[in-house]
Amino acid sequence: MPPEKPQWAELFTEVVTSGACTGCAACVVVCPYDVLGYDDADGHYLPFHVDEDGGPQDCTHGQRGCTLCTRACPRFRDWEPEIDTHMFGRPREADEVYGIAREVVLARATDPELLAAGQDGGLVSAILIWALERDLIDAALVSYLEGDGTSWKAIPGVARTRAEVLAAAGSRYTYSANTLAYSEATTGGAERLGLVGMGCQASAPGAMTARRAGKVARRFQLTIGLLCSKTFDDAIFPELFEAEYGIARADMVKMNIKGVFQVWTRDGGYHEIPLKQARAWTREGCLQCPDFAAEHADLSTGGIGAFPDWTLTLVRTDRGAEVLSAMIADGSVETRPVTDDPGVLPLLEKLSRVSRKRGPADGRKLIPVLGG
Ligand SMILES: Cc1cc2nc3c(=O)[nH]c(=O)nc-3n(C[C@H](O)[C@H](O)[C@H](O)COP(=O)(O)OP(=O)(O)OC[C@H]3O[C@@H](n4cnc5c(N)ncnc54)[C@H](O)[C@@H]3O)c2cc1C
Ligand code: SF4
Ligand code: SF4
Repeated sequence: MPPEKPQWAELFTEVVTSGACTGCAACVVVCPYDVLGYDDADGHYLPFHVDEDGGPQDCTHGQRGCTLCTRACPRFRDWEPEIDTHMFGRPREADEVYGIAREVVLARATDPELLAAGQDGGLVSAILIWALERDLIDAALVSYLEGDGTSWKAIPGVARTRAEVLAAAGSRYTYSANTLAYSEATTGGAERLGLVGMGCQASAPGAMTARRAGKVARRFQLTIGLLCSKTFDDAIFPELFEAEYGIARADMVKMNIKGVFQVWTRDGGYHEIPLKQARAWTREGCLQCPDFAAEHADLSTGGIGAFPDWTLTLVRTDRGAEVLSAMIADGSVETRPVTDDPGVLPLLEKLSRVSRKRGPADGRKLIPVLGG
């Protein structure tokens, strides 16, 4: 029998229509024939096959042997052990619920402007600026707010300068497929890219490299992951915040999640919305996601724990370790031991276990999780 060459037809049935698709857009950016589009209207964040060239469920290039979309997809078949093995030389052990990490520390930017602009310790922005200024990357794929920001629509975009990185700082809790900014970055001449994204997107460079997806894979030089248990449909703004709490999105200036949804408004107001109430607006693409801790990033970052102005940081790869050490050495970031916050590692484990329980609905076996 000839070797199987899985293509869009398999991706469509096994990932997109099975509900395992996260909307990460890796398949879209890797497609050399530009026959995949991306639908981000009305709460959908899904790829689609664009024309009659095989119809929505098949692809004539796939029929002729192109397999790139399945090779880029971080939810296709045995993605987790494949990417683990490529990145770390082995699959994670069952008790490594937050993935393979060589070190966990608390870190923050020493530059007061970055610390103030960042969601937590401003670490992600500090790393991007450092990597741009030291010519490690030409551009970073990040997330902005559309227009003047009052719509709170998170959109992918490219940052090439300190000012652009600062404009993208902070967290939005609706989806932004930052990977999609790939073509804007490369059309503008960037060859070496940094990618910021939740686990679904942070696994894309690893999937592409593990399965040899060519030029696109080689361009990703630094991946910074964001810890994430879910994102919300954009409908949460009118249907929950406005309808039930009278908070118009145009009046919101910042949001955060610390056990509750925290919302700050232009008039100096502060509101708390129970997460339980927000659950109904969980984005469909997150319902089968098992990866809380962005397990395939070079560095994974989060805001859980007792210290609001520090970023919980998991160092995973040689590249991640080199960048963080060099930044500590030249004073761009400061760190403190994770043991300063005794509750944070148990919480990281607990939240990772919660996400691990909701793997793909097709019964596919990921690496099992020991314990409750
Ligand atoms: C959707 C989402 C859910 C998260 N959930 C958790 C969680 O449950 N627990 C936890 O500990 N941490 C979570 N985080 C991570 C946390 O909010 C911070 O992003 C992280 O601690 C880094 O903080 P910082 O100050 O170092 O980053 P900053 O310097 O503020 O940089 C943040 C970067 O994130 C990018 N970004 C912002 N919003 C989005 C988005 N919607 N999609 C893609 N990229 C975006 C920005 O463009 C920026 O480059 C989440 C982040 C996001 C975006
Ligand atoms: S998970 Fe990502 S790469 Fe896979 S089908 Fe969905 S959008 Fe494409
Ligand atoms: S839970 Fe977070 S990491 Fe998982 S698919 Fe949703 S946005 Fe992506």
